[in-house]
This record gives sequence, C-alpha cells and structure tokens, in this order.
Amino acid sequence: MKQLTDLIGVGVGPFNLSVAALLEQVPHLSSQFFDNKKEFVWHEGLMLPNTYMQTSYLKDLVTAVAPESPYSFMSYLVKNKKFYRFLNTEMQTITRAEFSDYLAWTAKQINGIHFSHAVKEINHVNDRFVVTTSQGDFEAKNLCLGTGKSAYVPDYLKANLGDNCFHASEMGVRNIDLTDKKVVLVGGGQTGADIFLNALRGHWGQPLQLDWVSRRANFQALDEAAFANEFFVPQYVEQFYHLDPSVKKREVDAQKLTSDGITSEALKAIYQELYDKFEVQKQDKWVRLLPHRTVTSMTQNFDGFNIEVKNNLTGFEEKHTGTVVILATGFETKLPACLAPIMDKLSLCDDGLLQLDQNFKVHWKGNPENSIYAVNAGLGSHGIADPQLSLAAWRSAKIINDLASESCFDITESCNVMNWGTEETIMPFSTASLISVA
Ligand SMILES: Cc1cc2nc3c(=O)[nH]c(=O)nc-3n(C[C@H](O)[C@H](O)[C@H](O)COP(=O)(O)OP(=O)(O)OC[C@H]3O[C@@H](n4cnc5c(N)ncnc54)[C@H](O)[C@@H]3O)c2cc1C
Repeated sequence: MKQLTDLIGVGVGPFNLSVAALLEQVPHLSSQFFDNKKEFVWHEGLMLPNTYMQTSYLKDLVTAVAPESPYSFMSYLVKNKKFYRFLNTEMQTITRAEFSDYLAWTAKQINGIHFSHAVKEINHVNDRFVVTTSQGDFEAKNLCLGTGKSAYVPDYLKANLGDNCFHASEMGVRNIDLTDKKVVLVGGGQTGADIFLNALRGHWGQPLQLDWVSRRANFQALDEAAFANEFFVPQYVEQFYHLDPSVKKREVDAQKLTSDGITSEALKAIYQELYDKFEVQKQDKWVRLLPHRTVTSMTQNFDGFNIEVKNNLTGFEEKHTGTVVILATGFETKLPACLAPIMDKLSLCDDGLLQLDQNFKVHWKGNPENSIYAVNAGLGSHGIADPQLSLAAWRSAKIINDLASESCFDITESCNVMNWGTEETIMPFSTASLISVA
C-alpha cells in the first residue's frame, strides 16, 4: 500500500528544495520530492569556471523566513567548518559552484527527497494525485510543480542544432574544443557573458576568432541599485499581483535589466581581459564584440554556418560566418509534459501557461480539496522576482502557510517608506479630494 502524503514536489531545483527545507519545520505535513537527476547539481551545463551568483548568499533556501533553520547558508558554512575563512574572503557574492554545493548539502539531509525519479505522468483519482515516476507510483493530496525552465532556441535557428550549434546550457556537459574554430556566441545576457569570458581566457582552447553578438544596444549591466532591488521585496510582489495584465507586461518588459543584465563584476572582468590581451600583450584582434544586432537567419555551409545579422543601429544587414555557434538565447517556461492527463482540468493564461493565485496555487477545475502549487511559473502574474532566488524562501513560506491553512511562518512585514500606491495611501488622498469637493 502506497503512503498518501500531503504534498509531492515534482522537480528538485533550488525552489522546490526551499519548500522541502522549510517543510521540515512543519512535521504535521508529510511530503516527498522527486527529481530525474541522479544527484543534486545546480544547472550542471552552466557550471563554468569564474561564474558567480547574481544574488546575495543571504537569499538562500530559508533565511528570509526561518533564520533558525538548519538549512541556511550560514549553517552550511559552520557545519562544513569554513565559517572564518569564508569571512576572510570578504566575498559579497559566492561562486555558483559553492551555491550548488550548499544546495546539494541541504538535499542530502532531507529524507523525503528522491533522485533518479523522473516524473512521467500525473493523474487525479477521486481525492488524490497519482504521480507516476520511473520508479513507481506515489500518491499525494497536493502537488508543488518545480520543474524549472527549458532552454530557449528561436524556431528559425532550430534546424541548425547539432554538434557545432547548440544551446549554452549544454556547455558544461558537452566535450567542447574551440581550438582554431571561428566561434559565434549569440546572446548578451549573463550566460553569454560567462561563456565569453571563459572562451576569451581559452578555457575550451584558443579560438581562431570569437564573435559575441547581442541584440541589446550594448553589453548592459544588471541594475543592482538599492531602489531597483525594491522589485525583489514581498510587498512589491503582493501589489504587482493585483495590477492589470497589460500593466504587468509593461512593467516586466521595463525591468529587463533589473533581472537579466550582466553583473558589473563580470563586465569588468571581460573588459580587463580584453585590455590585457589587445592593449598590453598586443595580440592580433581575434575577438569582435557586436552589440545592437539581431540574428535574422542562419544556414549551414560546407564547413560551418552563414549567419545573417541585422544591425539595429545602422540598419544594415551583415553577413558573418562561424564554425561553432553557441546560443545563449535564454530560457522559457513550458508546461511539464507529465501534466498531460490532467490538462483539461487546468485553467491556462492566454500565453498557455498556468494561472496562479496570489499564494502560487494553480487555478484548477478538479477536486477543490486537492491543490497544485507551482514555483518559477509566475513571471507574468507575480513579476520579475519569481524566476529569481531573492524571494524563494518567502514564496515557499506562502505556499506552506496556504497548504497548512495556518501561519506556520510569519511573513507579515513592517511598513515600508517605499510606496507603490497601496490602498491605504490612495484612500486618504481620495477621501481628502472628496471632502474638498463637498
Ligand atoms: C546559470 C544560471 C544561473 C543563475 N543564477 C542566479 C542567481 O545568481 N540568482 C538568482 O536569483 N537566480 C539565478 N538564476 C535563476 C534561477 O534562480 C535558477 O534558474 C533556479 O535554478 C531556478 O530554480 P528551479 O527550482 O525553478 O529550477 P531548476 O533549477 O531548473 O530545477 C528544476 C528541476 O526539476 C527537474 N525536473 C524537470 N522535469 C522533471 C520531471 N519530469 N521529473 C522529475 N524532475 C524533473 C530537473 O531535473 C531540475 O533538477 C540562474 C539561472 C541560471 C540558468
């Protein structure tokens, strides 16, 4: 007889891992989490040298809502006997390798997390979900979907995918040799920058040529200013949720560089490396930086690719060639295939994605006693903090409070001077206007 748990988590990336870590503090809720990986590694394909977090290590799995948890980053430092040496490094942000190690350390300690369990199908029968994995069926009253995002490749480039044209997320898992190759890197976000810096430093061998093409007007920095970071506080997200969908879209578009820019540290490292190679060592210029350009088409030739590019500054079409093309073209949200059997019971948004309520619960037309939650699925509904780590612990706490129908975690906040137009501030003003009119 299968054990019926309160929650099954589908996928164990940092977001569901945060839910799992916090659930340890709520023993009356039982849970199991399944992931298809053999063991925990964070974005293995992008685990490159010289790559750092974009966010503070205090934005870990638990600290924002449960600093007493044994799964905080501080706890990881102490238990792994490196607390003092960590302090001596004076690092503001840690490497991705260390963050991955922290996540793996946490995952190992939580009993209900099972790797090598690919979730194939989710069915709903009477009062429960039946989750079919590669290692058998499991049952739960509720689900939390945490399958992450998928590599995005524009349709018109897909025909070129193969050994010499691939998505950036495969860099760390392919056997890559760029020696003497004409390399074209497409995409001017953080991933593009991380790959460019490593290629520039010869991590995959010395390329013959390295072109970095970006649609953005320049190689643009992540906006990490204090007020930009106000987009990553719970109060903002709570208010964002209630905005009109067209306003939400406009704001998310306008906040692009607050979530998707390149860290200043990475930009400086690239600039200094370029200076050293071409101004100090006086190497022949084997690198080209090509901002403000959109790849419009790509075809294969006898030894590589012809790439047509629109220069959005000059308006001219340009033709480039490469023997290896790396697509740092981002990630997209897709509905996990395992939802197929219950798809007809899910209410979707216009873009075909899940509709979420304020507590990250999916709108579904099935038995109301059973809920489906989703993490990293609410960019459109909850704003730019949703795909980031900044509010992961807070979101997990919100989900658990909703699931338990009680306040297991205190996520109430003190009043902030930053005011986006709350009801309380609108009311006195409109009341005052009414009074003066009267
Ligand atoms: C390279 C990189 C660096 C980033 N750095 C930062 C940063 O510094 N700061 C920040 O705030 N954000 C960062 N992000 C954004 C975000 O925090 C991460 O992408 C984060 O990993 C998202 O967590 P997740 O749990 O949603 O998904 P993922 O980490 O993608 O995990 C999803 C998991 O689900 C599993 N899975 C999928 N389908 C199934 C299935 N059917 N059955 C079982 N398991 C399944 C996968 O194997 C995977 O382990 C970064 C993103 C990338 C790509």
